[in-house]
Order: sequence, then structure tokens, then C-alpha cells
Amino acid sequence: MRTLRNLLRAAGMDHFLYRDGILHAEDVPVPEIAASVGTPFYCYSQATLTRHYRLFEEALDGLPHLICYAMKANSNQAVLKIMAGLGAGVDVVSGGEYRRAVAAGVPGERIVFSGVGKTGEEMRLALSGGIRQFNVESEPEMRLLSEVAVSMGVRAPVTIRVNPDVDAKTHEKIATGKSENKFGIPIARAREVYAEAAALPGLEVVGIDVHIGSQLIQLEPYEQAYRKVADLTRALREDGHDIRRLDLGGGLGIPYERSNSAPPLPLDYGAMVKRTVGDLGCEIEIEPGRLIAGNAGLLVSSVIYLKHGEGRDFLILDAAMNDLIRPAMYGAWHDIVPVVEAPAGVELGPCDIVGPVCESGDTFARGRPLPPLATGDLVAFRSAGAYGAVMASEYNSRPLIPEVLVHEHHFAVIRARPSYEEIISRDTIPEWL
Ligand SMILES: *Cc1c(COP(=O)(O)O)cnc(C)c1O
Repeated sequence: MRTLRNLLRAAGMDHFLYRDGILHAEDVPVPEIAASVGTPFYCYSQATLTRHYRLFEEALDGLPHLICYAMKANSNQAVLKIMAGLGAGVDVVSGGEYRRAVAAGVPGERIVFSGVGKTGEEMRLALSGGIRQFNVESEPEMRLLSEVAVSMGVRAPVTIRVNPDVDAKTHEKIATGKSENKFGIPIARAREVYAEAAALPGLEVVGIDVHIGSQLIQLEPYEQAYRKVADLTRALREDGHDIRRLDLGGGLGIPYERSNSAPPLPLDYGAMVKRTVGDLGCEIEIEPGRLIAGNAGLLVSSVIYLKHGEGRDFLILDAAMNDLIRPAMYGAWHDIVPVVEAPAGVELGPCDIVGPVCESGDTFARGRPLPPLATGDLVAFRSAGAYGAVMASEYNSRPLIPEVLVHEHHFAVIRARPSYEEIISRDTIPEWL
């Protein structure tokens, strides 16, 4: 059963497939996009974004729910517009993201505001523009939010993010549910903190929030956390709180290394949600980011040089760590494939795949088996749709790379590459120079 599912997943998780030996994004040959926009660039598939959102809809079918896309994974206006059109809510973590969500047409009642460091200004922005709830992470934040709301003559709907102290078994930089992490309040103190929240005049307590990390590849940590949330729901109700909404966070992992990983499917995740918190009569919110956007995107790059080093070959690409920082920052794996498939029987040689930035950290992969490639050949990084473009910088004065959206046989640039003039003119020289 598991194997069959894995096969289905491998075949159908995205819409980047080879046709006649050429990688396509939906119905568009990737080389055609490269010729039009130049490399490197990000390329997203609308059908894949849509499919991933629907997987969660199916998974939670039967429970009252709202899927709040965690837009920090990919916050391009076009991506948000697709999500908004599907009826998604969004999870925002800054005033900037709030403004982006509103600009893409997401109504305030479908925006939840997360993050450990919301400022008074961000609170005011969301309270005046409309907000579904704030996921509050500390007592000082709770008090400030109450003050801001009172000063505006409104009450702020809140959940409190609890830290369930479970090990998410993911990369340390993206684990958030252990007691040593900066997130939420310890679940053991929840009743006390909820009592204070209920007494604050500017707050309306509506539920509980939990998010234990990102790129989770097992359901067990979730299950442990959600059972604790279910117990807490009952305890808080006994204390007189009207707990009617549970925000269960995001974090479901994706298969970055296709040949060697099988994270849980949304359907299995949904069954676990129903099993753990489904009988509480609460509205369920989830905040997936990576699973929606990750495998809906490629980073396409060209080979600048093939350099023979000592005991190894280096494939030097025109993409670099500033364009996709995940390998340098988290040691993350991306499958990297030639856009034009090698003929059958060609021998594969191990290659270190690197960018042109002057840092050894600018290494995407080591010892990858690749067919012989030459200057100008295209390669594609898979699973680059989440935490790719949004984490890019212009280090080395390399312009931010364009983003392209594909829909069936159409494609459009959804963020253009800036010109060098635009980049340079963002700086200003003070009058004394
Ligand atoms: C990052 C984050 C998410 C999304 O995580 P993914 O791994 O992209 O699904 C959801 N909720 C919160 C609070 C987050 O910080």
C-alpha cells in the first residue's frame, strides 16, 4: 500500500515531467522559458500549487476547517492570488506579509497573524484592516495587543501559541516545539496565561495555536503535540474559556530527495488530525507552506563552466547561494537534474555543483552523479518553490532572479529581474561626499 502510494506520489506530486527527453513545466518546455527570460530563474506550476492545496482540503474533509497558507514560503502576489482564488486563508508573520496578502485580495477574516515579535504598529495595521486572529506567543505581547485594541475601541481575537515540548525530529534551525525554542508559552503554564488573557479588556480568546516545526517527516511528533492540545482544550473549557478554534500549525515535510524519502501524505496527516482533535467540536486551522509551494517550483540555471579539479569535477552554475540559500544555510538537499535528459546508457560522473559566489558555502551539492554537461546546458533544482525566492538576496550585487508562473501552455513573468540601474539607485550618497 505504502509503496503504491509512493509511486503515485512520485508520478503525480508535481507537473514537471520529461516529454521527449525535455523537462516541461506543465505544457511548456523549460528551455523555451529560459530562452525568453534568461537564467537563472524560478519557475512555478499553477496546477501543482492548486493540487497541493486541494490535497489538504481533501485531508480535512468532514471537519470545519480553514487552510491558511503560510505565505512566508512563497509570497509572490501571483501565488497568493491563486491561493485566494481557491478559498485559502493565509498565515502572515509580518506587516509586510499582511500588506501583501491584502493586496492579493485575501480578506481580513481569512488572515491569521503569527510570529514572536509582532510590534504595536503591526497589531494596529491588522486590527484596522481586518484579522481572523492573532496567534499570541508571550505575555508581554498579549498585554500590548490588549492595549492597542482598547485604544482602537475593538477586541482582538486571539489564540495563544503553546509550546508542547515535543521533539519534531527535524533540522534544529526549523524545530520550534521544544521547550528550549523561543516559540510560544510552555504548555504547563497555559491555564495561568489563558486566565490572564481572558481578564485583559482588549482580547477575545477564541482558541489554541501550536506549530512544532518545519519539514516534519513523521506524524508521531504531531500526534503527541495534538493530544496535548486536546487535553488542554478540555482543561481550558473547564476553566470557562470558549475554545472553539484550534490552529494546528504547518510543517508537513516534502520529499526533497525523491529516491530516498517518503514523508507522510496530507491524507494520513488529516486522518491523524481527526483522530486526535476531531471530536472536540472545534474549527480546525492548519498553516502549510512548504508542502503547498515546495514541489511546485524549480530553480533553473545554466552551466557556466565545467572545471576539472583534483579528484572531482566542479559544475559551476549561474545560480548561487544568494538565489537559493537552503543548501548553504541548512545543508539542505535538492534534486538537481539536467533539463535535457541524457540519452540512455550515458555514464554518470560525480560532480560538485557550485555557484560563482566567493564562499565555499556556495556549494549546492557534492558528488552528484550527472551526465556530461557543457557550458550553456540547463539544469533544474527541484523542490525550490518554498523558501527559495523569498530568502534570496543580492549578495555579490547579483540581481534577484525572476519568477515565472506556468499555467498549462502559458507562462508569465510574475517578478521581473531588476536592472542594474534599479539596484544601484536604491543607494543614496549623503551630501557631504
Ligand atoms: C513557518 C511556519 C509555518 C509553515 O511551515 P511549513 O513548513 O512551510 O509548512 C506555519 N506556521 C508557522 C507559525 C510558521 O512559523
